[in-house]
Amino acid sequence: MIESHDGALMAAGNDDYLDGNAAAGPLSELFALDVTVARGQCEHCGAVAVLAGARWYPNSHGVILSCSICDGVLLRLVERDGRRWLDLRGLGFLEFGPG
Ligand SMILES: [Zn+2]
Repeated sequence: MIESHDGALMAAGNDDYLDGNAAAGPLSELFALDVTVARGQCEHCGAVAVLAGARWYPNSHGVILSCSICDGVLLRLVERDGRRWLDLRGLGFLEFGPG
């Protein structure tokens, strides 16, 4: 591994990519937003809708949002022992509008 000028690590011999640390800036800007205003595509039925329109059935397992059309799970957010896990496998994409 090679460290670039901004501290990101690159694989030796291939400078076509940076490691995930390089994405910290853009990702921290994105996740500072209210994600419920984003439009997301359900991986189960293909519907596209704002996450605020999804269904949340509160329980002790954390936040589980389901598609309002097919009830497929869109995302899971679990917090335990000071750690958070975010599972977005139920979303094809999230689209954020301008500020
Ligand atoms: Zn769906």
